[in-house]
Amino acid sequence: MAHWHVLGAGSLGGLWACRLAQAKLPVTLLLRDSARVASYTRGGGLTLIDGAHQQHWPLPAETLTAPEPIAHLLLACKAYDALPAAQALAPRLVPGAVVLLLQNGLGSQQAVAQALPHARCIAVSSTEGAWRSAQGAITRAGAGQNWLGDAAAPPAWLADLRQAHIPFEWTAAIEMRLWRKLAINCAINPLTVLLGCANGELAQHRDAVDGLCQELSTLLQACNQPDAAAGLNETVWQVIASTASNYSSMLQDVRAGRRTEVDYLLGYALNQAHAHSLHLPALEALAKRLAARLAAGV
Ligand code: NAP
Repeated sequence: MAHWHVLGAGSLGGLWACRLAQAKLPVTLLLRDSARVASYTRGGGLTLIDGAHQQHWPLPAETLTAPEPIAHLLLACKAYDALPAAQALAPRLVPGAVVLLLQNGLGSQQAVAQALPHARCIAVSSTEGAWRSAQGAITRAGAGQNWLGDAAAPPAWLADLRQAHIPFEWTAAIEMRLWRKLAINCAINPLTVLLGCANGELAQHRDAVDGLCQELSTLLQACNQPDAAAGLNETVWQVIASTASNYSSMLQDVRAGRRTEVDYLLGYALNQAHAHSLHLPALEALAKRLAARLAAGV
């Protein structure tokens, strides 16, 4: 039985931490600083709200500089926070430590893996949903799946996830999963920010979405990700239809005045396009308009 350290007691980190605790696994939260630990401790722990079921979990919490060594780490912060967090925790990781990376997009996983050469860094692509309703209260928003893996054999600690009823599938094709999610995200999220609309309203901008999908497919092929490119356009329209009344995470971040993860989504896609000498005019124009909108703060 592993002792899991969870960095980022936010939406997804809280969801994972409570489920691991539910399975009677030892879990310690890693919070930014002693002020955060004090305020968390005063609040008495995390509460997981899952449908009609609500349960309180007074999990222990400490700062990143606590002395205890870490063998199993769940890095559940935003993509732009992942590298500094990993660097701060590096001295505590035992050789061969497992580090699960829950970040959306691409780029942060590679940066963390480079910073932690003695750890086994494993990327996770998640379609689960969770949000923080108030400090310490995590609401699980519907069912989803987690794909995780690397080229090696499935590790024994996967039994912990099973025991915790965390849905998952071990896959060696994790890069394909991350690319596919990134492409879907790039086809939908920036446009919803520019148009200030729910996902379903993109149906009125069919040509724009189809044009982005075409360029994204070209990029995926160039990046040797043909499986991620296959049927991308159809999948994007399926996602738009099945999430028609939802507001994209990027639009929600913008409306809440939070930093977006655009550098690890559209930014990463365009960096890769540049590396492959690809000119993708629709994606480039989208990135320019989005950057201008984010800079203007509206
Ligand atoms: P979130 O609610 O903002 O939580 C992130 C947490 O990381 C915050 O609690 C933040 O702490 C903490 N953090 C950042 N840097 C830290 C540090 N150095 N030390 C300690 N804690 C630190 O974000 P999220 O929604 O869970 O998203 C995490 C990742 O999962 C993102 O890449 C997101 O795209 C992906 N994802 C999320 C969902 C979802 O439904 N939420 C679904 C799929 C994928 P502070 O509060 O102190 O800043």
